[in-house]
Amino acid sequence: MSAKGMLRRLRTELGEKSTYDAVSQCSRCGYCEQACPTYVATGEEGLSPRGRNQALRLLLEGKLKEPQTAARLLDTCLLCGACATACYAHVRVPDLVLEGRRLLRGGGAPAASRLLSWLLLDHPGLFEGLLRAAYLLKRAGLGRLAARLGLFRLAGLPGLAAAEEHVSEVPSELLAPRLRERPELADSSGARWLYFAPCGPNFVLPKVGLATVAVLESQGRTAFLNNRCCGLLAYNYGELSSARESARRVIAESEARLAAAGPEAEIVGDCSSCVAHLKAYPQLFLEEPEWKARAEAFARRVRDVVEVLPAEGACGENATYHDSCRARHGQGISKEPREFMRSCSRGFTELPEADACCGGAGAFAFLQPELSDEVLRRKISRIAETGAKVVATSSTSCLLQLAHGLRKYYPECRVAHVSEIAAAGLGATAPRHAGKE
Ligand code: SF4
Ligand code: SF4
Repeated sequence: MSAKGMLRRLRTELGEKSTYDAVSQCSRCGYCEQACPTYVATGEEGLSPRGRNQALRLLLEGKLKEPQTAARLLDTCLLCGACATACYAHVRVPDLVLEGRRLLRGGGAPAASRLLSWLLLDHPGLFEGLLRAAYLLKRAGLGRLAARLGLFRLAGLPGLAAAEEHVSEVPSELLAPRLRERPELADSSGARWLYFAPCGPNFVLPKVGLATVAVLESQGRTAFLNNRCCGLLAYNYGELSSARESARRVIAESEARLAAAGPEAEIVGDCSSCVAHLKAYPQLFLEEPEWKARAEAFARRVRDVVEVLPAEGACGENATYHDSCRARHGQGISKEPREFMRSCSRGFTELPEADACCGGAGAFAFLQPELSDEVLRRKISRIAETGAKVVATSSTSCLLQLAHGLRKYYPECRVAHVSEIAAAGLGATAPRHAGKE
């Protein structure tokens, strides 16, 4: 094993620490155990935050005789961060788990994530062409046929079978081309908001992005920043070099647009996972002072759309709210979206365990389908207890996972992005099932 490809230094509540010092902050008290969805689902100590910290510590000390035994513990972490919120010492388990995965990979990355990074970073036009072709095949029913025949599994890509099942419908057009049809959105000068289109709204749920733009326009001049991948996929599953390169490009492009817009302008995104990653860019550059300073200046200008909602929305049905992990635990946001939902719903009910992960967690639902479904069933049963007809949330992964879970276990309820509910209040668009387009 080699430390090549690891961050090696992490930001913690107690300042910057080496990975070893950061994991050593865990006193093994176990206070976080009941907050951990994988521990609650399995009762297995190894699948708890404490178990994962211990595995990483032993890996770093070279005391694990079979390092691959740690892989299962680390690969099954949802990276939800509920443990870090519960922990008095604020041990950042997701960052530590990612360091453990990088250590086990020795600086490499799976072929699928290398290919995806290559496409998203340097060949976005090719990626869009391939995606459009995949959507055509899906609309023709060939994706489902391939999944039923087990072709994805035969090809060594079982995750694609799960993805095919999760995404029930695909959009007829991507988001960015629609926004580029509006020349006024290209002009940043004097803009209050610069809309950053994360990959989820751009490629899978363009209605969410259109709703967000409408919500922002209702509150000030808005420009379309870009739809460049923020690098989260590479950060979580791939190589840090790709994640850093994505971050540098996003920062460099934003600096010019922010300068044109003025000192009040803020960058707004509408997938809480990507926004949390944008805000965490400085972590990528702890050993590069110039880029660290630029990343910090950039991160100060970034907002999640759930932080800048208008006073009113339209959600006339019994509603509840599910915290995206990366909004709640990654950014500490819980008050604003709740206040908004209370103001616009005739019957808002607080969701029990609202801040517990739904099991979506990026590609987790596709890579660990059984554990993901176990976590999902608990989430859907909590939603059913509220009697909600609509559940609002703010991450692409939650939208897809909850849409899938509701279809399967509680079809009386639908899921919507908070932006869609806010836009419906403006009369801009009706809140819709987030899995449909
Ligand atoms: S992560 Fe925090 S709460 Fe959990 S066992 Fe370690 S010190 Fe205790
Ligand atoms: S990040 Fe989530 S799944 Fe991972 S150890 Fe913490 S609570 Fe458990």
